Amino acid sequence: MKASLKRLTMTAAIVAGTFVSVAHASSDDTTRDLDAIGSAIRPGPADPTIAHALQQISSRQIQHTIETLVGFHTRDTLSSMTKDLPPGQGINAAADWIESEFERYSEACGGCLEVRRDTFTESPQSRIPQPTTITNVYAILRGSDPVQAKRMYLVTGHYDSRNSDTLDTHGEAPGANDDASGVAVSLECARVLSKLKFPATLVFVAVAGEEQGLNGSRHLARLAKSEDWQLDGVLNNDIVGGNTTPGDTLQDKSVVRVFSEGIPASATPEQQKLIQALGYESDSSSRELARMILGVSETYPGMGPVLEFRRDRFLRGGDHTSFNQEGFAAVRFTEWREDFNHQHQNVRTENGVEYGDLLKFVDFPYVAHVAALNAATLATLADAPPPPSNVRIVTKNLDNNTTLTWTAADAPPGTKYQVVWRQLADPYWVRFTDKGIEPSGTPAGSYSVTLPVSKDNVIFGVRLVDAQGHSSAAVVPIPER
Ligand SMILES: [Zn+2]
Repeated sequence: MKASLKRLTMTAAIVAGTFVSVAHASSDDTTRDLDAIGSAIRPGPADPTIAHALQQISSRQIQHTIETLVGFHTRDTLSSMTKDLPPGQGINAAADWIESEFERYSEACGGCLEVRRDTFTESPQSRIPQPTTITNVYAILRGSDPVQAKRMYLVTGHYDSRNSDTLDTHGEAPGANDDASGVAVSLECARVLSKLKFPATLVFVAVAGEEQGLNGSRHLARLAKSEDWQLDGVLNNDIVGGNTTPGDTLQDKSVVRVFSEGIPASATPEQQKLIQALGYESDSSSRELARMILGVSETYPGMGPVLEFRRDRFLRGGDHTSFNQEGFAAVRFTEWREDFNHQHQNVRTENGVEYGDLLKFVDFPYVAHVAALNAATLATLADAPPPPSNVRIVTKNLDNNTTLTWTAADAPPGTKYQVVWRQLADPYWVRFTDKGIEPSGTPAGSYSVTLPVSKDNVIFGVRLVDAQGHSSAAVVPIPER
């Protein structure tokens, strides 16, 4: 294909926002329309400010967070109702400490964080035998741009833990990996990113109730929905400790799994029909967020995401699902290979096998690398222009060109517009419209571009990129007739 491209002569002209190309290939060779224009996807430029912030991420600080959380003996959600735990034990003590950490980071940035503690009572259900108070703790770094600040990106982990019995309020439940590691990611993102300013808003969260049935995250997701938060991306970190079991040679410390739903949990029957009709089973907003994370990892190398095109691990769930159910884009980060002797197990040794979610199995530098990928993603999204809205593919006439339209009313000056595409069987975006392909725009922020690529053979997306190269996630078009 490379050789054929060399022999290809192409003339291109922009006519009123329409990209017109005339390709003459030699008779013994052809270049398909989808390869003939644009450029191969390549990593965006690193932002020195973000790169510097990532260097501040500290595996020692992460170790301190995880050690402190393990030190509360149990963080079982139901322990919030016990009266007989020694001081410094139980989930309420853990909530107090997390809140104090957020306050400490906020003091260091001149009060830049709004620290919130949201306590609610959950009524009895299968893993909650009596009315139980559950507390979410979070900190908001409000965006510096009054228009862009409406957009929010959220990172979360669950600070509750459990042992073999999820109703055990007193037994040891260290939860070092599940999920003090995820809380450490959330806190470390807060500590490091609160030293910067972003146009959009970031929210750093620690929820409880995950082990009882995703109660804390469900409460927060519903709050976000009811208060109309413009929540454009949620990163859930759960079991990101890089479990190290002596003798296990199959853990891969160079990667982290990123799970994303295909068909949105919130899709109505009509939306599901449209997804099937268009072949968009792998293009939910969560999936586009996952693809965006892959791009970020190439700009800021260190931890390779393995995109898992599945809502969560086989038949299992997590807090991102709560956000998916309310219609938000949300993904889950989890280490490559879990050790089930070190999750949801009473601490004990049987036949020489150590059980329990112990501190000693956590790899703190690994958690730091996961935190860096999270922080780079949050910072890029919060710096990037908003994703385009009303993205449409014009289908009035049947032809082999494709006309895309979108609006970008709130895009800051200097925003560039990229159309990305891939063949139907490709997992990731492959090509994008590079220099020389500019959409036509109106002052009101409506844009249009026509590409000589058949909509039948590719999936298109539109993303917005600012002058420094921060890119939004792509949005796939729906038909406009
Ligand atoms: Zn968990």
